[in-house]
Order: sequence, then C-alpha cells, then structure tokens
Amino acid sequence: MSTPIVPEFESITRREIFDALCDAYDLARSLAAGNARWASALDRAWGWLLEQDTIAYDVEHWAIRVQSATHPGVVYVANGDCTCPAFAHGNACWHRAAARLVRRALEGELAAVAAEWDAGIARARVQAEVDELFPPRLAA
Ligand SMILES: [Zn+2]
Repeated sequence: MSTPIVPEFESITRREIFDALCDAYDLARSLAAGNARWASALDRAWGWLLEQDTIAYDVEHWAIRVQSATHPGVVYVANGDCTCPAFAHGNACWHRAAARLVRRALEGELAAVAAEWDAGIARARVQAEVDELFPPRLAA
C-alpha cells in the first residue's frame, strides 16, 4: 500500500494545456498499441478530458479528481493509484490514464517554460559578453 494521498487541488483549464494534452494522448496511444486494456482506458480518459472545462489537479501528488459517473457525489482521486472500486479490485481504470495524460501534458508545458527560461538566460549571457566587449556608449 502506498501512502494515502492528501491532495490540494488547483483548477487547470483544459484549454490551457490542450496542445500538450493532444501530444500526450498521441504518444500514449502509440505506446499502447497491442495493449487493448490500456488503449481502452486511454480512450475513455481522453473522452472524459474532452468533456471537462477545468481539471482539478494536485501538482505535488500528480493527482486528478474525478466525479464518479455512476455514484453521484462520489469523487475519486487518481495518480499512479486510484481510489475507485475498479482499481481496488485490481482492474485497469481510466482515471489513472487521465491522470497520466494530464501529468504528461503539464510536464510538457513545464519543459517548454524551462526551455524558454534557459534561452532567456543564454541570451542574457551573450548580451553581457557583448556589452563587456563593446561597452554601451556613455551618455555625453
Ligand atoms: Zn480509477
């Protein structure tokens, strides 16, 4: 048993991460070729994600919150584990697939931000060297 999740959820709009979600789904779907249960879970997760305007996400635990479709008012928490009955019975559940897709999408977004950040630092270094070699003219 893993440590119980004590999530703190934030709201992410699907629109914000949609491109990254599409990339994550495409990659996962190609990796799931030949694994019918995983492919099915991914498709169900993708269908659910497309219906959501916002996604409740806990970045620290890489967890999402999903309303039960069959038990109104019941909420499942999924990351690598899930609190739903299917997972408790050892079955593949799509909640975990949805959590994985959201995680991959966010990791993609974070990597893009980090790359922009690194590019900004690289530009600043080059500019500093240029300024040192060719000092800006002092104001007269
Ligand atoms: Zn589940």
